[in-house]
Amino acid sequence: MVMKKGLNTVDLDGKSAIMRADFNVPLDKEGRITDDTRIRAALPSINYLMEKCSKLILMSHLGRPKGQIYEEMRLAPVGKRLSELLGKDVIVCRESVGEETKKIISGMQSGDVVLLENLRFHKEEEENDPGFAKTLAMYADVYVNDAFGTAHRAHASTEGIAHYLPAVAGFLMEKEINFLGRLVHQPEQPYMAIIGGAKVSTKIGVLEKLIDKVGALIIGGGMAYTFLKAKGFEVGRSIVETGKVNLAFELIKKADEKGIKLLLPLDHIVTDNIEEDGKTRIVDTNAIPESMIGVDIGPKTIRAYKKEIKHGKTVLWNGPMGIFEIEKFSKGTNQIARALAACAGITVVGGGDSVAAVNKIGVADKISHVSTGGGASLELLEGRELPGIKALQDL
Ligand code: ADP
Ligand code: MG
Repeated sequence: MVMKKGLNTVDLDGKSAIMRADFNVPLDKEGRITDDTRIRAALPSINYLMEKCSKLILMSHLGRPKGQIYEEMRLAPVGKRLSELLGKDVIVCRESVGEETKKIISGMQSGDVVLLENLRFHKEEEENDPGFAKTLAMYADVYVNDAFGTAHRAHASTEGIAHYLPAVAGFLMEKEINFLGRLVHQPEQPYMAIIGGAKVSTKIGVLEKLIDKVGALIIGGGMAYTFLKAKGFEVGRSIVETGKVNLAFELIKKADEKGIKLLLPLDHIVTDNIEEDGKTRIVDTNAIPESMIGVDIGPKTIRAYKKEIKHGKTVLWNGPMGIFEIEKFSKGTNQIARALAACAGITVVGGGDSVAAVNKIGVADKISHVSTGGGASLELLEGRELPGIKALQDL
């Protein structure tokens, strides 16, 4: 595993730093931030840089403006929240590059913090345009990347800029690389992965990689039905990816050959109506009625999965066990979250929806690492090199 330089390996004394953060926060219709987790996650690096550097410039994207300016995607609300959290004024630019910004930057006083406007208002950002990257690089002496959530994209602010400045990882980035890297390179056994979510197709890369690493692969959620179909079970109207049944079959075969436990649901919560007031029943895997849809793992499955998780020295969880957005179908997901929280081993949760589930039931602080990057964490777990990490200086 290639180690990357972190914040405490560079001399920042009196220098100016430009840091890419992931401030892509959810906003309501009035432009208020509904969840500031991502801003808070960048605070350790920001506070450190404020202490060491003379000047700090922060940058991020927000939403998908695709090279155009949208008033509702401006970073002003982020700047406001940031100054509240830092107890200090944050100067917010109305553009990321341009004359006005140039003037603000050159007029920065020692101790100033500047936030650039949404980078994706310029199409050059996502095109990884060298000119755009160079302009950003000219704002500072050192580049810091703390935006793990966009590290799988080679954009000007995540990859291009690193060619023009000393480039190091922020604390959040370092933590993500350390925890996820450990799962790829030296997981302590027994290592088990619980994979759920709607589809097999979005998780194929990870499943194929994990099968070479884990002692047990635990499957739940919608994707379980493609596996059950591959084993010859009737799954009623449950979600099945017909085109992926063969692949599921191959994975089952591979697990068998390698002596890896592949756990599939033993029972299910089924309904004929995916709504809060839908009638539900508990049925065994061999008795899913033709007219019913599997929406959560059943009590026997929960017990079996919990028993397995208890012994894990390393446990990865990605993807909910059922349609957890509906309270009535969220028990399996909640119980798995609790099992992880209770596990004494190293526990890692990745994926937007599984992370949301962990936060919702309030056990995030009992998980060793809750990843901030959905797509990025999956790509890293697939063993791929992420461009935003690759571009940083080797230790
Ligand atoms: P993550 O974001 O954690 O990686 P995914 O995005 O892969 O997870 O999957 C989350 C989605 O999977 C949720 O919207 C959930 O409703 C859906 N899902 C889980 N179980 C089922 C099921 N049995 N049938 C249909 N959808 C399901
Ligand atoms: Mg998701």
